[in-house]
Amino acid sequence: MLTEENYRWDETTEIVIIGYGLSGAVAAITAHDLNARVILLEKQPAETHCTCSSIAMGVFLSLSDIKRATEYMTALNQVGSYPELPWTDAETVKAWITYTAQNKDWITRMGGNIKFLSNVAEFPHLPGADSLELWKYQGNGLRMMKFMYDHVAARNIDVRYQVSAMRLLTDNTGRVIGVKVADGRGNASREVNIRATRAVILCTGGFEESEAMKLQYLRVYPMYFAGGTGNTGDGIRMAQEVGADLWHMNCVSARLCAKFPDFPMGVFIDFSGGGWSQRSMKTEKEKAPAGFIIVDRYGRRYMTEELKPHTASYECGWFDSYKLEYPRVPSYHIFDRRRMEYGPLAQLSSGPTGPHLLYKWSRDNVAELRKGWIVKGETIAELAANLNMPLENLANTIDTWNRHCQASSDSEFARNSLELVPLDEPPFYAIRLFPGGSNTLGGPRRNGRAQVLNPFGESIPGLYAAGECGSVFGMLYPAGGGNLAECIAFGRIAAENAVREKA
Ligand SMILES: Cc1cc2nc3c(=O)[nH]c(=O)nc-3n(C[C@H](O)[C@H](O)[C@H](O)COP(=O)(O)OP(=O)(O)OC[C@H]3O[C@@H](n4cnc5c(N)ncnc54)[C@H](O)[C@@H]3O)c2cc1C
Repeated sequence: MLTEENYRWDETTEIVIIGYGLSGAVAAITAHDLNARVILLEKQPAETHCTCSSIAMGVFLSLSDIKRATEYMTALNQVGSYPELPWTDAETVKAWITYTAQNKDWITRMGGNIKFLSNVAEFPHLPGADSLELWKYQGNGLRMMKFMYDHVAARNIDVRYQVSAMRLLTDNTGRVIGVKVADGRGNASREVNIRATRAVILCTGGFEESEAMKLQYLRVYPMYFAGGTGNTGDGIRMAQEVGADLWHMNCVSARLCAKFPDFPMGVFIDFSGGGWSQRSMKTEKEKAPAGFIIVDRYGRRYMTEELKPHTASYECGWFDSYKLEYPRVPSYHIFDRRRMEYGPLAQLSSGPTGPHLLYKWSRDNVAELRKGWIVKGETIAELAANLNMPLENLANTIDTWNRHCQASSDSEFARNSLELVPLDEPPFYAIRLFPGGSNTLGGPRRNGRAQVLNPFGESIPGLYAAGECGSVFGMLYPAGGGNLAECIAFGRIAAENAVREKA
């Protein structure tokens, strides 16, 4: 561990915030408005800066009823565990709820352009689910972050792009008193020690882009994510070095997404057409325009394809201990001419094919067919051969699916009857899918004051965390908008408590 004797200070401020996504921006604005001097570090260059926050849909949660929201979060926290051992302690959940209930008003007061989206929680059958309000920043995450960047700029907050935090610096009592950074501005990178007289706040996101951490910590491998290009788990490792406990490391907010060998990120697929992977179909008018199924690598269906957008990836984690493989990794999105011709197969509202335009998906899907991202077969036999999949399985699966469609009833997985469109118009197509999607949730454990805790539950003086770096969510994610809600809530909590630290 680096301690005071080993280093000299190059400069001093009151609060150092590491990472310029939504949580970092909110923490910086809050600390500045409470009269603290702030340095905000971002390792990416300004010109190409892309975060989970800016690539997001821009949906965030607010809450209409604190008591009901507490019931919901309490129920959620016990799934896969039990009351004595919730995924997240009651005090930290309470802090999230108290501040999240203010999110809508906070953004509105700041002048943000938001619109009410829905009340649909990820698990509507759990008690209190109706207390969640999903709001959307108009123009998606990119516009939301532009709005935040403007606020930061208007305050003249000292933002340093291309400066990567490397290690936390402590005094000989273990208090975090600064950060060692690699300053990549100018011609050569140089190491600089920045003293933080009050606190350091970690806003470095998760570990979506660290293969080593994903292998060690997640329930299934490989997993791919559609954002977080700078999120290589740096904040988690830095916190570990100064004694942080970790939590939620095997938890994710994820579904199934495409990953192509010659493109670095996961891509969200618009499975049935209509712009979004999970459609809410209630009336005959909303019937899916095209059919699709998801099969494992042997051509077998294994779940209802009405994917839970932040949970479905857990379905891929089954490991075959005889064959020594994950039979559902990869899985395949199987569709026919109807879906191919319906419109872009990628989601255009977020992720690399969204407004950030890291990849411009073609309107007619033909460019991606030519690249081999979409696999084609004139017949089911040809598709199975091209996928290296047992023909008998795939043919049986499609045949059974078509019979379910004819009967208007999916007797295997009870899929919404409005999605029962047969696969009978050749050619047939497939896209390779992997577990993945939005983001990891694990990182340093924090309390309701956003203080990072050691394995004995004691706070590490001078160290705070916000956002996805040690998210408060455990196995189950409450609803679309949970993470951005957490960035706003815990960005504020961390900054409010950090400025109270004695200089
Ligand atoms: C495609 C997609 C859509 C999503 N849509 C939504 C949505 O609509 N609603 C929702 O609630 N959630 C959504 N999410 C999840 C949500 O966007 C993220 O969880 C959230 O934005 C994380 O914010 P953050 O501030 O914690 O981290 P990020 O926004 O990821 O920012 C972290 C920053 O830290 C920087 N950094 C990392 N290490 C260092 C270092 N050592 N030194 C300096 N800087 C460093 C990174 O470069 C990055 O800029 C989505 C995610 C994806 C991928």
